[in-house]
Amino acid sequence: MERRFPGKRCVLHLALRKSLRMRGPPRCAEVGNVLIFHVVNMHGYVDCHCHISAREFDEDIEEVVESSKQAGCVALLAVAEHAGEFDKIIELSRRFPGFIFPCLGVHPVQDVSPGQQRGSSLQDLDAALPIIEKYKEHLVAIGEVGLDFTPRFVSGETDKENQRNVLIRQAHIAKRLDLPLNVHSRSAGRPTIQLLKEHGVHKALLHAFDGKPSVALEGVKAGYYFSIPPSIIRSEQKQKLVKQLPLENICLETDSPALGPEKQVRNEPRNICISAEYIARVKGVSLQEVMEVTTQNALRLFPKIKSAIRP
Ligand SMILES: [Zn+2]
Repeated sequence: MERRFPGKRCVLHLALRKSLRMRGPPRCAEVGNVLIFHVVNMHGYVDCHCHISAREFDEDIEEVVESSKQAGCVALLAVAEHAGEFDKIIELSRRFPGFIFPCLGVHPVQDVSPGQQRGSSLQDLDAALPIIEKYKEHLVAIGEVGLDFTPRFVSGETDKENQRNVLIRQAHIAKRLDLPLNVHSRSAGRPTIQLLKEHGVHKALLHAFDGKPSVALEGVKAGYYFSIPPSIIRSEQKQKLVKQLPLENICLETDSPALGPEKQVRNEPRNICISAEYIARVKGVSLQEVMEVTTQNALRLFPKIKSAIRP
């Protein structure tokens, strides 16, 4: 798959602002080619789920972090997919203390070789457990964990069962460490929420949830939060979801480098404003209210990020 790397321009964002006729602080604006955030009274955005350790950011991580701050981000939650990247995530959290916060976990889909993937199994967890244990004091969540029943990753019940076992084990680890879960679900919305509830999970973020709003509302009843990526501007399913979800259960995320406003273009945490602006329009509230409520939600779910938030 070809990946294009955009420059600093954010044409979509500008077009969106124009279409929303957004005015009044706090807001994102394009000054030169950089999004600038105007802090008016309190804090900013929390990107509750991004892959900042991805190799797509190796070349310009400093710039990416700086422009995310200028766009109003006050904290990035860096999620992991496999044990091989745990050390890199911890290093990044040390390089950007109080800004990048580490979450370690085993993703339901694992790479076999470039372009080849399979569902996770308990062996993947064996490699991860000692490292999670080693860094447990530093973690703000266990993640990215979850279920992915996309047909190309599961060829039968056994594969689904393997993924379930990996998730159940990690749910128990999170409970023992008193940490929330940062959860992926694809083509598995209902089974994911069901499993979390059955295993007594009380603190969970469902990221980029692709299930029906009625299923998401079951999660709301259980006290779960749902994070919305910038791809909402091109996803009818996400738009329907936001309409139904109460703002009190919504968080923001970018899932960078994936799920950006433009398909196949590298996404960055600075695009978080795009999610926030879309939610503000759908809910008929100010951008500031979206920022404040989603950040309070993030704080409630991930209390260990509080060092990043100014009162
Ligand atoms: Zn992710």
